[in-house]
Formats: sequence, structure tokens, C-alpha cells
Amino acid sequence: MKTELKKELSKISDFENPRISLEQYRTPPSLAADLLHTAYMQGDIEGQKVADLGAGTGMLSLGAALLGGNVTAVEKEEDAIRLLKENMEKLKLDLDIIQQDIEDFNNEADTILMNPPFSHHSDIGLKFWEKALEYGDSVYGISPRGMRERIKDFVGNSSHEVLAVEEFSISLPPSYGFHTEERHETEIDLIITRRKENGA
Ligand code: SAH
Repeated sequence: MKTELKKELSKISDFENPRISLEQYRTPPSLAADLLHTAYMQGDIEGQKVADLGAGTGMLSLGAALLGGNVTAVEKEEDAIRLLKENMEKLKLDLDIIQQDIEDFNNEADTILMNPPFSHHSDIGLKFWEKALEYGDSVYGISPRGMRERIKDFVGNSSHEVLAVEEFSISLPPSYGFHTEERHETEIDLIITRRKENGA
């Protein structure tokens, strides 16, 4: 199933002119397939209300829709939404798209998927976590290894608990913020949380 999924996700086009300020990069299909497969096996996708925060060109949203989730993609940037719609047609999938800044997100969801921006200049990534922990019952978030302790602290102060942290290494394209011609290996985490039984 994971191989099939990865093959299908490889059809999703990337950002044309990635906005570094918004940390636009497409989650690699193999990592997206791992995340989606894990969530699916936990019962967090099929027939569930799934929200993808910062949906970009749709890698996580479309993957979740492929696996039978009822998906809402939340994205603020125009060009990304246009590509997301194209990808939706290409894969013949249907999902709801909300053009919105994450600051304004207030929809409850069973499951939240996200690969949010983490920049040195702002705490926007933690804002994504704040929203996900408030509105989602389960959260699957990708983040740079260096953010692990801050995110865990954040989760510790919420109604969620950390279920698992899985480690991956991904290769980012040269366009992405580094002034070199080489692809850049980056250590990242998939952090999975769930609302505690007695969580409000
Ligand atoms: N989820 C996609 C894209 C990840 S890149 C994937 O996995 O491939 C992060 C995305 O978050 C970008 O598309 C960017 O435009 C969006 N984004 C950044 N800041 C945002 C904000 N404040 N509100 C909504 N979307 C935002």
C-alpha cells in the first residue's frame, strides 16, 4: 500500500517559485507516504475529518483523501492554492479548500496533518502547533530536529500527549535558503500527539 501511495503522490507538482519567507517546500512523497500510512494504521484517516494546515500544493491533503479521509486543506497563499487545485484535478480527488491564515483557523478536526514553516525569524511553526493541539484530537506534524524539545514542552502544556517521535532525514533542494548548489540533508521529526482521555 505504501508503494502505491508513494507512486500516486509523486504526481503532485511542486511549488513553481517557492516563497522562502513562507518556507514553501513540498514534503517528499516517501516521507508523506510514511506519515499517511502511520496515520491510516492508527485509524486516523479513513472516514475521519482531516485538516491539513499549510496545505501547499496538497501533498498531505491529497494523500489523506486518497486513503478515504474527509479533508479540509487550509492555505493562505494564492499560488499554492492554484497548484493544489490543479493537483486535485490531476489525481481526480475532491476536498475542501479554505484560503486562510492559520491565525484564523478554528475548525475542529479528528486529525490534523501538517508540515508547518519553522523559521529562525518567527514562531509561526509554534502557532501551527497551538492551533493543531486546540482543534485536533490527533496531530501528525513534521518539524526540524532542533525544534523537538520546544514542541514537546508545548505539547506538555496542552491537553495532548506525545504518542511517538519518528526520525527521518530529507534532502532539500538548493533553492531552499542555503546558498549552495548542493542538496541539503536535513534531520527532521514526525511528532504524533493525541488528546488525553481526560483532556478538555
Ligand atoms: N503541506 C505541504 C506544504 C508545506 S510548506 C506539503 O506537505 O507539501 C508550508 C506551507 O504553509 C506553505 O504552502 C505556506 O504557504 C503555508 N503557510 C505558511 N505560513 C502560513 C500561514 N500563516 N497560514 C497559512 N498557511 C501558511
